Amino acid sequence: MKIEKIETFTNRLIGFVRVTTDSGEKGWGQVSTYNADITCEVLHRQVAPHALGTNALDFGDTIELIGERECKFPGTYLRRATAGLDTALWDLKGKIEGKPVTSLIGGSPGPLRAYASSMRRDIAPEEEADRLCRLRDEKGFTAFKWRVGKECGRDVDQWPDRTETIVPYVSKALGDGVSKLVDGNSGFSPERAIEVGRMLEDNGISHFEEPCPYWEYAWTKQVTDALSIDVTGGEQDCEISAWKTIIGMRSVDVVQPDILYLGGLSRTLQVARMAAEVGLPCTPHSANHGLVTLCSMHLLRALPNAGKYLEYSIEGPYSQQWADELFVERPYDVVDGKVEVTNAPGWGIEVNPTFLQATTYAVTERD
Ligand SMILES: [Mg+2]
Repeated sequence: MKIEKIETFTNRLIGFVRVTTDSGEKGWGQVSTYNADITCEVLHRQVAPHALGTNALDFGDTIELIGERECKFPGTYLRRATAGLDTALWDLKGKIEGKPVTSLIGGSPGPLRAYASSMRRDIAPEEEADRLCRLRDEKGFTAFKWRVGKECGRDVDQWPDRTETIVPYVSKALGDGVSKLVDGNSGFSPERAIEVGRMLEDNGISHFEEPCPYWEYAWTKQVTDALSIDVTGGEQDCEISAWKTIIGMRSVDVVQPDILYLGGLSRTLQVARMAAEVGLPCTPHSANHGLVTLCSMHLLRALPNAGKYLEYSIEGPYSQQWADELFVERPYDVVDGKVEVTNAPGWGIEVNPTFLQATTYAVTERD
């Protein structure tokens, strides 16, 4: 069975990919979010030519070869685009075999604990605590992440003392018996990150994400070595060579690849296995309600070294207009703090035709 046609349906934020085989079977995937229109252009120009005509069911090596054929273009756009192809092929394989993707990679359908993940820094401690506590009480979440510092902030806070205020305030409001996580988004030098980390230790926070500029692996390792709590990261890292370095030097306690930044499920499985070999858990990054969270659910249900929970964005359609219209049936309902991987074949979703109609269409097919 060969790949015959690759279609994209995109706007600036989000782009879906449909792969069709020479026997007419179809699978749906997604390139990574934001500048998805540019990413789809890369998919047609630099990914599709290497994939058309290749085996649609045995594609691990095709995904690797794309990087080699395009070796002058390493980096995020090629991987984001490749992820669209890879995730569509996993969906196709699942549909042909009548199995959810998780079952194709050694997992099984079922529930998964989720953590409520805030994406905001423009929010005061009181308001953040209010909405997290509401989610605890209404949806049963038992784990929460909020933001400290400022993205790539060079030790300057979002506003003076926000970090020192929001950590104890939100932690106290949430109370005991829940897991508390914070994200620094590359905000701190090692010295400042260790200082913030001590405060986190004193306030019952168990996970300190991306404390230092993410490309400074040695800085992050300094923080990891100094603190007793988990230091985590890796969402941006999209090259396997980078992951070999991160895992080899143990710069983090928990690896957080993003399936769609990294180039798809196949490459994320490689990273998760590398982490498993040295005993590190994998908690994928999935910061929006496009396909990435669903892919992460299927992955987590299959990994022997799965982290404790799924990242579940709590930002509603008001900030991500597309979030609730993408799928005919929303796969992200939370009950008792858990989401559910169903036994529907592939990713188990149908892309909303109304959404597709409003996108820009492009196709590349075999001559
Ligand atoms: Mg993060």
